Amino acid sequence: MINMTRILYGPLYSRRLGMSLGVDMIPYKYCSYNCIYCHEGETTLLTVERSEFIPRDRVLEALSTLAGQEAVRGRTLDYITLAGSGEPTLDINIGLYIRYLKEHSPVPVAVITNSSLLSEEEAREALLKADLVVPSLDAVTEEAFRSINRPHPGLPLKDVLDGLKEFCRRFEGDVWLEVLLCRGYNDSTAELEKMAAYIEDLEVDKVQLNTVARPPAETFALPADMETLVAFRERIGERAEIIEDEQTLERESLEMSLRSGMTALLRRRAHTRDELSRVLGRSGHEVVKVLTRMEREGLVERSHVKGRYLYRMKSTQ
Ligand code: SF4
Repeated sequence: MINMTRILYGPLYSRRLGMSLGVDMIPYKYCSYNCIYCHEGETTLLTVERSEFIPRDRVLEALSTLAGQEAVRGRTLDYITLAGSGEPTLDINIGLYIRYLKEHSPVPVAVITNSSLLSEEEAREALLKADLVVPSLDAVTEEAFRSINRPHPGLPLKDVLDGLKEFCRRFEGDVWLEVLLCRGYNDSTAELEKMAAYIEDLEVDKVQLNTVARPPAETFALPADMETLVAFRERIGERAEIIEDEQTLERESLEMSLRSGMTALLRRRAHTRDELSRVLGRSGHEVVKVLTRMEREGLVERSHVKGRYLYRMKSTQ
């Protein structure tokens, strides 16, 4: 039997994509980069070999289940997003999955990629049928690239930059470039000036500036200053926006501490919402919001016992 929750996840809400359902065809955590800021943790298999990691028929069966879902048929979702815990273009069948979704669902298809494999003609071709591609780019000098993205040794930066440019030139859908700034790694005036010059010629609809907001793979990956982000947004011009403003950062760090507190308690034993609220000193409303999100993400399960709801962490077995 297919473990659909392994391939499909969500729906999740994000400020950028709205409500989206995710498709993850890459085992945790295979990637062509090992970014110091990755919130998925350290890359366990650093690779640039495109391959079939989950048998194609299993993924297609999951996509067929997804296409039949109410939210997809009724088009209450903003996107179906191919992303997940590693780099999705490593899957050699990604083009097939995009075409399948376009043929069987009315919901636009988005792909979130680190851009590395856009240096390969087949990977560029595979994404052409998507509606939206969100490629990332954090560096335009070898030194910054090697220190922040820690790429596979077989990935020359020049090939990545040329591949991204070529893809943007050919792609007819929307492209939102994401740039993540990390203090001391890619936020120097010299690096940002070179990056701005590269972006000037890039055919993208938006440039979304981001910084470290979730727990990073390395503790030394720190957020860039807000002034640096603002100055870089001004330098890029009207296509640029900051997607992690101070309020978002503050809200996310509050949520992060609530999540980790709840995870520790719910691992030990089941709790009611009121118990969590009392022990953690947070309002019932805040607790429910985060609990609901964790439940949707498949992390927490709820049971009804003697007239009250009990929550516990789901077993990962
Ligand atoms: S490219 Fe994305 S998934 Fe891969 S290491 Fe970097 S942040 Fe993590």
